[in-house]
Amino acid sequence: MSTIQQLKTYQMLIDGQWVAAASGLTYQVVDPATEQPIAIVPKGAVADAERAVRAARKAFDSGPWPRKLAVERSELLHKAAGLIRERAEDLALLETRQMGKLLAESLVDVNDAAHTFDYYAGLAVEQHGQTLEVPGESMSMVVREPIGVTAGITPWNFPLLMAAWKVAPSLAAGNVMILKPASVSPLTSLELGHILEEAGLPEGVFQVLTGPGGEVGDYLATSGDIDMVAFTGSVEVGKAIMRAGAGNVKKVGLELGGKSPNIVFEDADFEAAIDGALVGIFAGSGEVCSAGSRLLVQRSIYDRFVGELVSRAMAIRVGAPAEESSEMGPVVSQQQLDTVERYVKIGLQEGAKLATGGHRLEGRGYYYEPTIFVDVDNRMRVAQEEIFGPVLVVIPFETEAEAIAIANDTIYGLAGAVWTRDVTRAMRVIKALRAGITWVNTYHPTYSEAPWGGYKQSGVGRELGTFGLDEYQEVKQINIDLTGRALGVYQHGTEDGKQGKVVSLNDRRPFNDEFKADEWVGYCENCR
Ligand code: NAP
Repeated sequence: MSTIQQLKTYQMLIDGQWVAAASGLTYQVVDPATEQPIAIVPKGAVADAERAVRAARKAFDSGPWPRKLAVERSELLHKAAGLIRERAEDLALLETRQMGKLLAESLVDVNDAAHTFDYYAGLAVEQHGQTLEVPGESMSMVVREPIGVTAGITPWNFPLLMAAWKVAPSLAAGNVMILKPASVSPLTSLELGHILEEAGLPEGVFQVLTGPGGEVGDYLATSGDIDMVAFTGSVEVGKAIMRAGAGNVKKVGLELGGKSPNIVFEDADFEAAIDGALVGIFAGSGEVCSAGSRLLVQRSIYDRFVGELVSRAMAIRVGAPAEESSEMGPVVSQQQLDTVERYVKIGLQEGAKLATGGHRLEGRGYYYEPTIFVDVDNRMRVAQEEIFGPVLVVIPFETEAEAIAIANDTIYGLAGAVWTRDVTRAMRVIKALRAGITWVNTYHPTYSEAPWGGYKQSGVGRELGTFGLDEYQEVKQINIDLTGRALGVYQHGTEDGKQGKVVSLNDRRPFNDEFKADEWVGYCENCR
């Protein structure tokens, strides 16, 4: 039997059916640790996307899901969380096999994904509208409503978790969603389709389309029948999605890249800061949007810090991601490996000093050494551009002001951290950082409860927390007259013939005798 015959063949989820691509085309998903194919997946195209969008429209416009009680949606999402937890080990192994992160890291991601479903299941019944204090005999209230048909387009570095960050709040708010996972790692997103189906989600409410982003993703971003696109990925594709979405002025949420500063002051806990610097860049092989890929170290401790950092990086065990003894796995693909190699060359050409690493590991698998450039100038390309691999640049600084200036001298604004024992300095620097996700004396912990997203070119909008649910909702104001009488501005022909006196709603003082049309706001005090 050939390898291909032994591979598991997946189907896409469209309109409640598990189907092949209309064209019949497929592609292979490859394990980056072995370079061997592990699954066959439909290569969807525009025809498949059109079908999914039609089904999604129907599910939103006339299906049961948006009309369900919040408590019913909540129950289903809790059920999905439970099913994810039941299958956590299988899902984690699948995640590791399709994109190469350590199994222990995949398990954390899968549990976080389950927690995200539980969290939004809870918020679905907790979040309410508002009643407003308004002038006159009126009432005004605000209600929240789903946006409609949403599309989620996700990257390959946290496949299931990035899907959960979109799917859970979107469904909690009563939307329907089409998910387009990254082509190299679609398998856990397809499993999520099975889980939501098993949890009892009605047909067409959640669909998963596999296929090239430039075709399927672009169709979703462009379609006039889609009301919102939530995208996580590169800045370049994020910009293309923003342009594509302009056609029907759809809402666009963008979670993009970063080149985040990790700032170590001389009074930091040395051991904790060394560990935080290593975790900041080498967790997930550096394929983490919020990675602390620019390490800023105060000059007075620079030599000692860099010496220890480099020797600890050299000791990192790079190996098969499913092996317990491995401390860093491969990068995701040959393409990503090529990018890393290209940037290491660029760094050397720019004059950055390679302190360790800089080579691909011998043998099968897309393994690359933990790599550190020292004495880097922040203007170099290796300090400005996202490499998205296990490559750290270390930049010295003298003063707090200089550290802040270097930290903010980037087109990105996703994350950043400060290491110091001085709480006033920590807070001064954190406040000055133009970034959405920050840490003091730690790096990388994230919580479903806290909003995730970037400043500047790192994105638009927020995921997670209550802010993450807001993104998937429209708000509608409802204004109710409590008098039961006409507004009366145009009452010349009425029985008493009395002309109304027009009142400004802005300051609530009646105008004098004259009617000032350009100031009229729409409330008549004498018409009663
Ligand atoms: P990517 O190349 O931008 O792809 C992301 C997704 O967009 C994939 O599903 C891709 O499909 C799809 N896509 C590609 N071209 C498209 C187009 N023209 N229209 C619509 N969709 C399109 O990013 P990636 O390489 O997968 O992920 C790495 C990037 O994601 C990094 O920049 C990282 O910083 C960022 N990221 C950000 C966050 C955050 O929260 N801010 C989190 C994780 C990752 P295909 O796979 O089929 O090409």
